[in-house]
Amino acid sequence: MADQPTGSHRPRLKFWGWGRETDALTDDENALIDQTLGMLAPGGLVETPPPSESDFDLPRPRLTPPSALAGFCSSSTYDRLTHTYGKSYADIARMLLRQVPAAPDLVAFPRQERDVADILAFAEEANAAVIPFGAGSSVCGGVEPAVGSGYAGTISLDLQYLNQVLELDETSRAARIQAGILGPELESALRPHGLTLRHFPQSFEFSTLGGWIATRSGGHYASLYTHIDDFVESTRTLTPRGPIETRRLPGSGAGPSPDRLMIGSEGILGVITEAWMRLQHRPRWRGTASVRFNDVDSAAEAVRALSQSGLFPTNCRLLDADEVRLNRVGDGRSPQVILGFESADHPVDAWMHRALELAGDHGGAYDAEAVQRSLSGEAEGSQRKGAAGAWRNAFIRMPYWRDRMIAAGVIMDTFETAVTWDRFPSFYATVKREMAEAIQRITGRHALVSCRFTHVYPDGPAPYFSYVVLGSDRGDIASALDQWRAIKQVSNDLVVREGGTITHHHAVGRDHRSGYDIQAPELFRHSLAAVKRSLDPRGLLNPGVLVDPQAP
Ligand SMILES: Cc1cc2nc3c(=O)[nH]c(=O)nc-3n(C[C@H](O)[C@H](O)[C@H](O)COP(=O)(O)OP(=O)(O)OC[C@H]3O[C@@H](n4cnc5c(N)ncnc54)[C@H](O)[C@@H]3O)c2cc1C
Repeated sequence: MADQPTGSHRPRLKFWGWGRETDALTDDENALIDQTLGMLAPGGLVETPPPSESDFDLPRPRLTPPSALAGFCSSSTYDRLTHTYGKSYADIARMLLRQVPAAPDLVAFPRQERDVADILAFAEEANAAVIPFGAGSSVCGGVEPAVGSGYAGTISLDLQYLNQVLELDETSRAARIQAGILGPELESALRPHGLTLRHFPQSFEFSTLGGWIATRSGGHYASLYTHIDDFVESTRTLTPRGPIETRRLPGSGAGPSPDRLMIGSEGILGVITEAWMRLQHRPRWRGTASVRFNDVDSAAEAVRALSQSGLFPTNCRLLDADEVRLNRVGDGRSPQVILGFESADHPVDAWMHRALELAGDHGGAYDAEAVQRSLSGEAEGSQRKGAAGAWRNAFIRMPYWRDRMIAAGVIMDTFETAVTWDRFPSFYATVKREMAEAIQRITGRHALVSCRFTHVYPDGPAPYFSYVVLGSDRGDIASALDQWRAIKQVSNDLVVREGGTITHHHAVGRDHRSGYDIQAPELFRHSLAAVKRSLDPRGLLNPGVLVDPQAP
């Protein structure tokens, strides 16, 4: 078997944090973080240095692949560490603690679909659990080989070599794409054809098409086509019992949809190897506006009116005052709604003006000249200016900043949900209040809890809560992690109790199981387990996610 430094063909990623090993914070970013840390702990903080491979003494791998598979399997320390966790707060914290109780025994890097089938066959023979791995950006314990003691070993199945656009149907505007392609690779392949998938999760740089489909990912556009679900035309999935390939159809009423079964299956039913995806023309006209409101309730009412108007803004992001302050997109005294329209077909002025009228009806104030400037011409780049631009930069760079904050003992996390409009006002007030109280109780410190909408639907918004609190000023990340676990339990219980979903787009994984088991009807969960038994009778695929792992 190749015990090469890495089986990856890409620039080395940090095994413990976000981005490539060569990615660093800028001086300005470090200065801003210093300032924030200084406010959280005026007496100073202890920062834990990032781990290196030599800090880990992993147990010997329990599996040896047959010689036919050994050429694309690795058990190097780097590969095993890179496939141990996803990228949640707890994942980064455990890496900083050098805490790795369950690294995968093997990491397989299939070069072609046939290799995936061979790994599944080997896993059946060896009673090994297989964890499909896109780019490992899961934030809910989705790729962690914590599978219990019922297996002889674990294999992380990394699809990064399956990263091609295989066919393009420009007439129907669709492409056949391999699952392991990263966001930027995909968009680069489509750009010369004037096309785009137009799916941009915050993790776009380091997440894959297969991961998006398997987790029902949400992109950053606010309305209409936001979920990956809407772009899937057909899928091809390898299960331990053989392939399931669906037909390419623009729509079909033929019974329950097999694609819908695979979308959101989180690696428990099979390995998605490719999909035909619906594409769009790249937008040419854009406009953005930043609208200030007196209070969250009137801003939410304006957003509700917009979401029910049929205008379908591409961006319609309500930021409460704390979120404005946290992201430095304004003075933090009033909530803002960032509005955006775009089109490949027509100027968007009329849509923007009507949206601003609706916002004005609810007390929204904006700089009319700035809006006009953003609408003028084919404003390529207008997105990158003003509050919208500041917001976008903070959004993309946040995961890089987060790693340093966690190393300094700060607990910094988010949870996202969706709730119907009728419940929103009391939901928002209760979640903010009870989270702040719970965090104060658990950590003994005051937390900043902020909220924004990531998506809006005609029947309700998707509120996304963030919080920042100092867990330990002495570099005691273990205590901070315990506090994070207690806070996580509170947020999981709270959103479900208040009528929201346990996850709007971050999947269930292992971390949201308790909430999922309450949200999904019992009979449905039994049916899902029965489907899994028929496709994966030995229960080898991603045990513990959505369905319980097999008993020892
Ligand atoms: C900083 C940050 C920002 C994020 N922003 C967003 C966001 O805006 N929107 C959003 O939806 N999510 C977001 N996420 C979560 C995460 O990026 C998504 O869940 C993403 O879809 C995972 O893609 P991946 O390729 O990294 O999959 P992985 O993390 O590798 O895997 C995720 C799950 O999918 C399964 N899986 C992966 N590939 C396959 C396959 N080919 N076949 C079958 N199963 C598979 C895995 O087994 C696992 O259960 C964010 C995460 C981070 C760290």
